[in-house]
Order: sequence, then C-alpha cells, then structure tokens
Amino acid sequence: MTSKATKDQRLKESRLKRARALAGIDPRRDPPPPGAVMADHAELAHNNPYELLPKFYVDRAIVCRQCGTEEVWPAERQKWWYEVAKGNINTDAVLCRSCRESKKAQKAEARRIHLDGLARKRAKHGT
Ligand SMILES: [Zn+2]
Repeated sequence: MTSKATKDQRLKESRLKRARALAGIDPRRDPPPPGAVMADHAELAHNNPYELLPKFYVDRAIVCRQCGTEEVWPAERQKWWYEVAKGNINTDAVLCRSCRESKKAQKAEARRIHLDGLARKRAKHGT
C-alpha cells in the first residue's frame, strides 16, 4: 500500500468514526453540530408539507445492504440526494458506493444489450 493510500484509508476511518458519533443527533430537532450542511427547505418542499423537515445534514454511517461494508454517507451527498435528485426524505442510502456503481454499470450493460438487440432487429427488417 502506498503512503497516500494509507493516508486515505486513515482519513476514511476517522470520518466513519465521526459519522458513528453523530448517529444520535436528530437533524429535525437538534441544533446543527460543527461541520453540518444546512438544508434548504425550499428544495425539500416536494415532500409532505406536514412533515418535520431536517434542518441540516451530517455525515452518516451506513451499512451496505448488499456487501455489509460500513461507509460514510457524506452530508453533501445527502443534500444532493434530497434536494437535487429529489429523493424521498424518508429514504436512505442502502448501498455502499462500490455496490451502487456496479449496479449502475449492470443497468447500463443491460440497456446496451437491449439497444443492440433492437438495432439488429431493425437491420434484419431492412429499416
Ligand atoms: Zn456494498
């Protein structure tokens, strides 16, 4: 392992440790801890208006449903998921980054095969 990889690994672990320590914080009721990313309620407005919305996001430790790896779901990524991708506020990341990426690759591959099949069918029919 290079020293950079070791450093990255150590950084990852300390971030994970910090995320675990933040698990008891309730972003709907508690004051934001240092390093929290503030939520934009205008962007969250697509959700149930009667629901109490989070005031901020903090790094969260998640365990991948597929491979069991514990990983940080960074506060900035949560903000992106809920406010830009308009993910439901009651949904959480369930897969680690590498499982998410391989799932995405699988989907792209299935789509490519499907499109190839269509193209072949069209070619056969001379259109
Ligand atoms: Zn995984």
